[in-house]
Amino acid sequence: SIPLGFFGGIGGASRAGVLVKGGNYLEALNNVETIVFDKTGTLTKGVFEVTAIETVAEIDKASLLEYAAYAEGYSNHPIALSIKRAYKKEIDNSLIENYREVAGYGVKATVKGMRVIAGNSKLMKQANIILPSSKATGTVVHIAINEKYMGYLLIADEIKDDSIKAIKALKDMKIKRIAMLTGDSKAVADKVANQLGLDEVYAELLPHQKVDKLELLDKRNTGKGKLVFVGDGINDAPVLARADIGIAMGGIGSDAAIEAADVVIMTDEPSKVSTGIKIARRTRKIVW
Ligand code: ADP
Ligand code: MG
Repeated sequence: SIPLGFFGGIGGASRAGVLVKGGNYLEALNNVETIVFDKTGTLTKGVFEVTAIETVAEIDKASLLEYAAYAEGYSNHPIALSIKRAYKKEIDNSLIENYREVAGYGVKATVKGMRVIAGNSKLMKQANIILPSSKATGTVVHIAINEKYMGYLLIADEIKDDSIKAIKALKDMKIKRIAMLTGDSKAVADKVANQLGLDEVYAELLPHQKVDKLELLDKRNTGKGKLVFVGDGINDAPVLARADIGIAMGGIGSDAAIEAADVVIMTDEPSKVSTGIKIARRTRKIVW
């Protein structure tokens, strides 16, 4: 028969698809007080789809999409990839100049001699572009050309089926606080948090503000429990490094995230967080 200890420990965790980078992290997983999730790519699929295009009178939808796709030409952000998929055609990189990605905001580039910026309302504000009022709920990528507002692309993402299971399992395990941090809009963040039943949600955060929020959440811990952050590494590698236990979604995560993390989930399933905690708890029983 298989000895009880077989599924315990670091080896057992890795067989379950959870790589723990040391015994101290397995031990720490026994004593988790707060778990903070990133939204995009972690709780949601991170596979965006352009679902609507709205333009001002001066430009048509196809042209707006073309400028946006070119501005995003060099970006690997999930939003950028969705815009390039929607555009469908090849992008001629020789038509893109002065490309710059502004983490947590969007992109800027000169496309066919036109200054294009594509990103969220904060990026538009920073560039003094006046946004028309809009009722669009969802992730919105605004586009301005030569400092004039030209319209937006509405981008949809979906909650992973596994996220529902993941949050339920963690609640059943009596984790005290489950929160979410995101750079996305408050409307989108609230919708996801409500659907999953999260305790707390913080939206419209820049990468460094995610670290500040994590520190705030850390201060609210009783001092006994560990603070876990779970992310895909896109715009959240500093938060992964700051948490007591940084968990990277290795299935889709960047090398930087896998490097910065203490624990790596080998799939894109957030429910592996509870798997890891369960194994840690069982291992402790056997060892002690
Ligand atoms: P999250 O915290 O949900 O993982 P990010 O921090 O990666 O999201 O991005 C936050 C927001 O910044 C996005 O919701 C989007 O509005 C904007 N953004 C970031 N990168 C891009 C990009 N390449 N193109 C357009 N918008 C972007
Ligand atoms: Mg992310």
